[in-house]
Amino acid sequence: MAKITDILRTMEYGPSPESDEHVRAWLASHRDGFGHFVSGRFLKPGALFDVNNPATGERIAGVTQGTAADVDAAVRAARKALPKWSGLSGDARARHLYALARHVQKRERFLAVLESVDNGKPIRESRDIDVPLVARHFYHHAGWASLTASEFPGHRPVGVCGQIIPWNFPLLMLAWKIAPALAAGNTVVLKPAEFTPLTALAFAEICIEAGLPPGVVNIVTGDGSTGAALVAHEAVDKIAFTGSTEVGRAIRQATAGTGKKLSLELGGKSPFVVFEDADLDSAVEGVVDAIWFNQGEVCCAGSRLLAAESIAEKLYAKLRARMAHLRVGDPLDKSTDVGAIVAPVQLERITRLVDQGVREGAKIWRAPGALPERGCFYPPTLVTDVEPASTLAREEIFGPVLVTMTFRTPDEAIALANNSRYGLSASVWTENVNRALEFAARVKAGVVWINSTNLFDAAAGFGGYRESGFGREGGREGLAEYLVADAPKGRTNAKALAPPALTALPGQGPAPGADAIDRTAKLYIGGKQARPDSGYCYAVLDPKGAAVGLAGLGNRKDVRNAVEAATKASSWGAATAHNRAQVLYYVAENLEARATEFAERLRAMTGASLREAREEVETAVRRTFYYAGFADKYDGAVHATRTRFVTLAMNEPWGVMGLVCPNEAPLLGFVSLVMPAIAMGNCVVVAPSAAYPLSATDFYSVLDTSDVPAGVVNIVTGDSATLAKALADHDGVDALWYVGSAEGAKAVEAASAANLKATWTRQAPLDWREAQGREFLRRATQVKNIWTPYGE
Ligand code: ADP
Repeated sequence: MAKITDILRTMEYGPSPESDEHVRAWLASHRDGFGHFVSGRFLKPGALFDVNNPATGERIAGVTQGTAADVDAAVRAARKALPKWSGLSGDARARHLYALARHVQKRERFLAVLESVDNGKPIRESRDIDVPLVARHFYHHAGWASLTASEFPGHRPVGVCGQIIPWNFPLLMLAWKIAPALAAGNTVVLKPAEFTPLTALAFAEICIEAGLPPGVVNIVTGDGSTGAALVAHEAVDKIAFTGSTEVGRAIRQATAGTGKKLSLELGGKSPFVVFEDADLDSAVEGVVDAIWFNQGEVCCAGSRLLAAESIAEKLYAKLRARMAHLRVGDPLDKSTDVGAIVAPVQLERITRLVDQGVREGAKIWRAPGALPERGCFYPPTLVTDVEPASTLAREEIFGPVLVTMTFRTPDEAIALANNSRYGLSASVWTENVNRALEFAARVKAGVVWINSTNLFDAAAGFGGYRESGFGREGGREGLAEYLVADAPKGRTNAKALAPPALTALPGQGPAPGADAIDRTAKLYIGGKQARPDSGYCYAVLDPKGAAVGLAGLGNRKDVRNAVEAATKASSWGAATAHNRAQVLYYVAENLEARATEFAERLRAMTGASLREAREEVETAVRRTFYYAGFADKYDGAVHATRTRFVTLAMNEPWGVMGLVCPNEAPLLGFVSLVMPAIAMGNCVVVAPSAAYPLSATDFYSVLDTSDVPAGVVNIVTGDSATLAKALADHDGVDALWYVGSAEGAKAVEAASAANLKATWTRQAPLDWREAQGREFLRRATQVKNIWTPYGE
């Protein structure tokens, strides 16, 4: 036995194991396997798959592999429960959520141990982070249940939500999904990950204990095929998914054109940036929390350490010293820092990627010391000498592997940070508040932690930019994902027009009427009129088939040029909102001054009556004033999260937006899409009404005379389907709004899976007189949450 004097010298920890007695007893009582949880009760187990303890390799349970029929039964149960649940008062739903929160708290220790046994994460983390946050989520959303009606007027629940979650935070991801869904009045079918279904099944028991009405929460276990069946089910109204970008893409494609609402929280390769003036000791602790928390199996792990060159070696030295004290081992030992990797296949993936990195020239460093002899363990690893383009710098490893790179200037730090197809989170370390906030503003990430990392709270939104997905979880912005706006009341004056068959005419085509001057309306790109790349135009026909003008027949190349122009104009988004407001007021005034001319154009193209045409122009003017007014009033928020943190929720423009307008309401449809988008600071590429494009092409001169900077609005006329596809395919388009046919919406959503751009598709006809409001502003922005600490 070690002498006390020896122990004092080495400061070795003794083991401090948490008892798993209750969990073992619970597992023993389910020796025959777990069935699905449907309609408030557990079904008989079906064909089972094994669930193993990753720290030992031991089989701990058998869980049913869900079939399409199982999924169907669960969806039916959820649908059946929906009217009653959504019809309850908010307060009644709140009481149910409070009850769930309390029962989670009552079973806190049990759930923490079960989570560690199932997932391999250290008990310190499941006990102190995961499970308390689960309870917090239910409490927080209990409050929202009471407040949804008053805080989201004109909204209703989406319906039945299919929710698919990963294995890294099994119970916490369940809470992130179920709490807001229930608060908003939805019912759910949740599929936990196949490696870690046990806490979800324990939660099902809590639903029974807490008296949740049957069918409100249903849990179907199984692998990816079960998830795919849930995604494909016709009676599911929304899919909320957290997992890999690859599966997220498949889900985007599978849901295209189905009208299912979708939120995706996907992968990341998040930067952890340390400037030369950072408190290096704090930053080192930050790194530990960023990449060695949960074995690095965290979608927002700070897996790319970007260090200022001047302090890099010093920082690495401190890191190595700290790494030597990280304890890797038994997840149930209270002094373990790094637990087990979830499964052998994940361990193999980590090993393969790191080996490949080494072959590409990377150098690795690991603290000396042996790993446990059995189970799935991977040592904390520091990787230096990597190039930004190398595998280890680009690929998400999802393991305890930190890749380092250096920078010299703040601009270089930003460029390196943003040099990723992902954009989930970022952490920045500096004692200079200006530098920190500038970084926060410029980094492309949904969550930014200043001098901190991996902080979560139910009141703050979480979710990514770019290929990290779209939609937020947590906070007001997260709740909005589980609501839909009521269909506008009132009569629809519009008829959906079939898309016109456009006949390409060479060159300028025959000029309408007798005069031979070139009357072809050109495209408008980068503030200039441009001839279409095709060299073709098409005749714009009135309802009687007479030509009223010619418009350019734009193609993919024109869209590309327009996107380039829009990208170059990005300073529009950085201009003060007040400036944007002034420009929009000017647009409204100039449109108003030319109201008669615009009304005449509408009449000539569409055959509308004078009264109808005037009404359309007047509404377009009012709408422009409305968004001018909103340009500097669509505020973000300061979320009430932790003490000593200001959590700023900023509404940021997407960047470049594609807008595909309906055929009908040629002026009002155009204005209704363009104005909210540019008011929020986006630059847009617009495909106007294909049938009646001339109101949009007349609009150039309004833009020109109103000081709208070149490139902010780009207009490409032509066939809507062709232009929509080109916009959806383009990686430089960050978000896409499409109004048109069901097939068109499907094509746009499927094509947008490539860069996972956010889409908003709506089917014509819409009542354009009603198409205005905050929803447009919400869709024209994404929320960035910035966590700023204060105090020494
Ligand atoms: P990771 O294993 O990296 O967390 P995955 O995306 O593979 O991420 O898994 C996340 C969740 O998605 C799991 O619950 C898994 O079963 C489920 N899943 C996997 N493939 C599909 C699919 N094609 N459709 C729906 N769900 C899927």
